[in-house]
Amino acid sequence: MWQEEYLAAATPEYATAQIAVWWDIEGCQIPEGYDARWVRPSIEGELRKLGYFGPVSITAYGDHKQTSDDHLRGLSSTGVALSHTIPEVIYKRMNSDMRDWRLDNPPPATIMLISDHVEFLFAKGLVHVQQGDKYNLFLAYSFRPYKMSILVTSAEWLWESLLAVSETRRHVLRKCSERSESTGMFYCNVCFCDCQSSGDYRMHLSSDEHKQQEACIISVIRSNDQDKEYWLRKTVEKEQTFEESSSDGSWSSS
Ligand SMILES: [Zn+2]
Repeated sequence: MWQEEYLAAATPEYATAQIAVWWDIEGCQIPEGYDARWVRPSIEGELRKLGYFGPVSITAYGDHKQTSDDHLRGLSSTGVALSHTIPEVIYKRMNSDMRDWRLDNPPPATIMLISDHVEFLFAKGLVHVQQGDKYNLFLAYSFRPYKMSILVTSAEWLWESLLAVSETRRHVLRKCSERSESTGMFYCNVCFCDCQSSGDYRMHLSSDEHKQQEACIISVIRSNDQDKEYWLRKTVEKEQTFEESSSDGSWSSS
């Protein structure tokens, strides 16, 4: 399989180092019928196979109003943190959380991104992170990028094949991964607050207070866009007036 070429074994430096997984759950969704409790054991299983045994933190970013209760419970019960964002700001939030994480976790450490937009949204920042700070990088995506990446990765996976772990292996892995819901699992990245349980999370995401925060972000983005459009129109108008007046000038002087 083509992706085999992208799986390099861990060097001693990174073998026991921290691994942080940043997952865009809307782009790389949980396949239909797939048990959300298998996500963590599948990812950890692949990492262990390559010789990475460090602690793994996984955060799933997305609009969790749309995430089913089964998925919310399945992910949180296996220690996958949930971070609610809206599509308008998801990459901004991922980027800023990643920046904060790097401050607390200097290299050697591994960053794994599960997203179809790595090249477009993260590549510039990540090149610096890799070449300057020497973080190890893994990628997973739901389809193979159409162009060569400028990033140097130690491993790349197709999202669905990463999740495809055999039944027996899953059973063993799940035993190691099961844990109860804990604090920090349910985060609202719109209001910047924590919830204690999946029930509280659901209640918070459907509250008026939360809805107002989302509406506020969307209205700020729209008004910024309108401002940009307004200034663009003004600039074009100014240029047109300038061209007209200078062509008038050239006519009158001739
Ligand atoms: Zn909120």
